[in-house]
Amino acid sequence: MTNPNQIPSYQGSMLMIVAPSGAGKSSLVDALLKDDPGLKLSLSTTTRAPRPGEVDGKNYRFVSKEEFIRERDQNLFLEWAEVHGHFYGTSKPWIESQMEAGSDVMLEIDWQGAQQIRQLIPSVQWIFIFPPSIAALEERLRKRGQDDEATIQRRLAAAHVELQHAHEADFIVVNDSFEQALMDLQHILASSRLRSGPSMARNPALLKRLGV
Ligand code: 5GP
Repeated sequence: MTNPNQIPSYQGSMLMIVAPSGAGKSSLVDALLKDDPGLKLSLSTTTRAPRPGEVDGKNYRFVSKEEFIRERDQNLFLEWAEVHGHFYGTSKPWIESQMEAGSDVMLEIDWQGAQQIRQLIPSVQWIFIFPPSIAALEERLRKRGQDDEATIQRRLAAAHVELQHAHEADFIVVNDSFEQALMDLQHILASSRLRSGPSMARNPALLKRLGV
C-alpha cells in the first residue's frame, strides 16, 4: 500500500544524523554546515524546555505540549517521536519546500524518526555517529553540565537503546578524532550528491544532449 505522506525523489540530498546524546553530533553538524552553505539543517519542534544558552528558533522551536499535539493533529510533522519523555518533530511544510527547491537537507533526529523518514523518502541517507566508548559518552554528557544526574542516567540508558539501531544506518562514523569524523561526513555528503537520482535531476540539459 502506498503511503499518502510519501514524497517523490528529488534533486537534493537528504541526510539523517542519528547518535546517542553525548556522541558529539551537534559539534560535527555545526562544523559541516559552516563549511557547506548549500546544506540546510531542519529546525525541529520540541516540547522540552530550553537548556541554558539554547535559543528558540535557532536550536529548536520550543512549544508547549498542547501546541505540539495541535500541530501533530494538523499533520504538520513529517515524523515525530517521544524521546526522553518529550515530543520532537520535523516540520513537514519546511521539508517539502526545501525538496521543491532541490536543496540538500540534514535532519538531526532519533532512530524512531529515522525509521519513519526512511519509509517516506527511501533515498534518504542515514548516518549513525558512534562515540569512541561509553565512558567518552558519559564524560561528554557530564562535561556539558546542562543536565542533572537523573537526566544523565536516563540519557545513558537511552544511548544503549539507540546504539542497537546502528545496523539500520547506511553509514557509521566514529567520532574518535573530530577532524576525521568531519571529513567522513563531508565524503558521505559529497557521494550522496553524486548518486544517479540527484545527479540526473540536476542535469536535465546534459541528459537531453546525451540522449539519455
Ligand atoms: P536533545 O533533547 O538532547 O536536544 O535531543 C534528544 C534526542 O531527540 C536526540 O536524539 C535528537 O536527535 C532527537 N531529536 C531532535 N529533534 C528531533 C526530531 O525532530 N524528531 C525526532 N524523532 N527526534 C529528534
